[in-house]
Amino acid sequence: RIGEEDQSYIDKKKNGGKQRISVPISTHKVAFETIMEALLDKEDGVINAASEISAVGHRVVHGGDVFTKSTLIDDEVIDNIEKCIPLAPLHNPANLVGIREAMALLKVPHVAVFDTSYHQTMPEENFLYALPYDFYKKNKIRRYGFHGSSFRYVSQKVADDEGKKLEDLKMIICHLGNGASIAAIKDGKSIATTMGMTPLEGLVMGTRCGDIDPGVLIYMKNELDMTMDQIDHMLNRESGVLGLSEVSNDFRDLWDAAADGNKQAEVALKVFINRVKKYIGSYFAALNGLDYLVFTAGIGENDTDVREQVCTDMEALGIKLDYAQNEAMNRKAGEISTPDSKVKVLIVPTDEELMIIKDTVELAKN
Ligand code: ADP
Repeated sequence: RIGEEDQSYIDKKKNGGKQRISVPISTHKVAFETIMEALLDKEDGVINAASEISAVGHRVVHGGDVFTKSTLIDDEVIDNIEKCIPLAPLHNPANLVGIREAMALLKVPHVAVFDTSYHQTMPEENFLYALPYDFYKKNKIRRYGFHGSSFRYVSQKVADDEGKKLEDLKMIICHLGNGASIAAIKDGKSIATTMGMTPLEGLVMGTRCGDIDPGVLIYMKNELDMTMDQIDHMLNRESGVLGLSEVSNDFRDLWDAAADGNKQAEVALKVFINRVKKYIGSYFAALNGLDYLVFTAGIGENDTDVREQVCTDMEALGIKLDYAQNEAMNRKAGEISTPDSKVKVLIVPTDEELMIIKDTVELAKN
């Protein structure tokens, strides 16, 4: 909450405890200084001197079609991240401030890891929108996809844990958090994903609408006299399960409300679940079969009921959930399908930070 009300940071203690520490954090510069102080703290810090930090990894949301992998940051890279600002006007400028402040503070290699780059392997037929071609050629309007570090981590983890080659596996990974997307993975690469040019497309999310007839927006502008800013705000912040339920964007609240007989919460959950099922079916077809269906992120890892309902009535696709196992494995990594299920269903906790660290170490080494 840099520069906003109630500024604070969360300090994870060495002994496992967590503490929210309220301090004024007016700018990103102050934020980094605050973090450095915490890292260097005599009692609870993890390093003795700033010089012990040998590289910094930065998560950057949008790398457009310029960045197909993580990269060492130099002036040209900063220019190119700047050029991607129109594609992510809220995120990339903040990422750039962070990069510049961190570079000023720590004279070591800095690495940018992009949410979009993983999906640059998608074939044209899966990333093009059916608009006049010039919008793609001149304005780069196309599907990019997000959550790349998560899909990369989870797909490799499944292959490693199962003792198989990633290249040999067909996978659908459901990254279900407040922001949610699904990716289809074949030959070790992303071939399709639900988020688009922006993180608004695809699944129903906490507060984002996901797929919608674009005609609805034209109607809202022309007939309801809404401005584009109002429509933008409504689609990103007031829609999704929050908008439908008028209860919450948090799935724990939604299940509680539904259990108390709140019909709107119940239907919001159904709309969310149906959208996930729809994409699993669609990607099953795109992959011509499926070896692993994987759940990850806040909802995927913790919400037994979402996993149960997504996997119910899916036997036609070879998906058979072990309901007891689904309960038992909650919040843990493991298999939740029956032994005779053709598709193995897994929970795999994601670790986007680890992916950023790996890329940073790899690039900084050289
Ligand atoms: P993001 O990174 O997109 O902010 P997360 O992956 O952290 O999101 O997921 C957060 C969401 O996960 C919460 O909004 C909530 O809906 C859901 N969630 C977290 N814990 C649980 C739980 N125990 N049961 C059900 N849903 C949960």
